[in-house]
Amino acid sequence: MMSSAGAPRRPRVALRLRTDWEQEERERLAPWAVRSADSHGRVVAEPEHPYRTVFQRDRDRIVHARAFRRLEYKTQVFIHHEGDHYRNRLTHTLEGAQIARTIARTLRLNEDLAEAIALAHDLGHTPFGHAGERVLNELMRGAGGFDHNRQTLRVVDWLEQRSAEFRGLNLSAETREGILKHGCHWEHPLPVPALRAQPSLEAQVADRSDEIAYVNHDLDDGLRSDLLRLDALAEIPLWREVHEEVRARLPEVDDDMLRTRTIVALINRLVTDLVEATADRVEKRNPADVEAVRDTPERLLGYERGLEQALRGLKDFLFQNLYHHPNVVATTHQAERVLAELWSFLREDPNKLPESVRARFAEDGEERALADYLAGMTDRFALAEHRRLVHPDGD
Ligand code: MG
Repeated sequence: MMSSAGAPRRPRVALRLRTDWEQEERERLAPWAVRSADSHGRVVAEPEHPYRTVFQRDRDRIVHARAFRRLEYKTQVFIHHEGDHYRNRLTHTLEGAQIARTIARTLRLNEDLAEAIALAHDLGHTPFGHAGERVLNELMRGAGGFDHNRQTLRVVDWLEQRSAEFRGLNLSAETREGILKHGCHWEHPLPVPALRAQPSLEAQVADRSDEIAYVNHDLDDGLRSDLLRLDALAEIPLWREVHEEVRARLPEVDDDMLRTRTIVALINRLVTDLVEATADRVEKRNPADVEAVRDTPERLLGYERGLEQALRGLKDFLFQNLYHHPNVVATTHQAERVLAELWSFLREDPNKLPESVRARFAEDGEERALADYLAGMTDRFALAEHRRLVHPDGD
């Protein structure tokens, strides 16, 4: 390294450079982990960074993306103005990413890759959660449909603009593989990573961490909001078991603390079982490398069979009692109406769209450009635009 004066510059402390990280990964990670030095690279080739690995850079690009900031005002289950303590899509994402890092680290997988995928996994979500996705899919039926995983890949590959040299964030093939999830059955503007029988274990970790995060925080928020009843939940074996175990350990605490400690214990139970059952499965199968993981017919990452079934019971409970709760369903209908009316209004009068959206008509088609625009909206922006454009008289 040369200083500006031209003399060789000697750092006062030994810097940890990308090549050091890559060397550490070679020594520390399991043979079946993804190593950043072996990445299949980016769609547009770029020079490597002096001190960040390819996946650390992916993670940083995701965190700096506009779509990432908008997650704060997108619904997880509760519309953002219902209360300041409920999760939104940003806090859901951060909880999922934190769980992904713990699991990846414990299994000697690439923590940076699992984290990058987890941080990106919901970037394509519409306002108003799955209700918004359903409406857009309906409206886009004649133009290729709408799916939030597909939209996440569109956001990172196409819609984010942070470089003068390429469209999107130009993420690595491995991060994009994890984002893509279930394959690509639609037109995508860039070459899509080839999907094999399974994605990397890091992608599997991000997937399961998402599930652990939402099951637990939805239970927490559901109980806190009184939409879920504790006595009904006590019928579910996995909850009952963990709840009673915590109550026996902490007989003096109040209901709030008991709920909080039960959620903590449940996350710990799920993560511990996932890590241990996966370690057993990986040891039996002993894949030589990540390519062997990708060719494995079944997912190597998973719970022991009993816990998988118990978790299914808990998810069914949430489905019936929280996601289909009359209060949640009522806001869902309102959300569907807002998006559908915005769609019709802007289809009829595209001149009301921002110039940046109209500029994409020729390239992406009018419907796709409009779907991208609506999907990118936060809950509160969609509500404000709906009031301004569709119901300016406040009716
Ligand atoms: Mg999610």
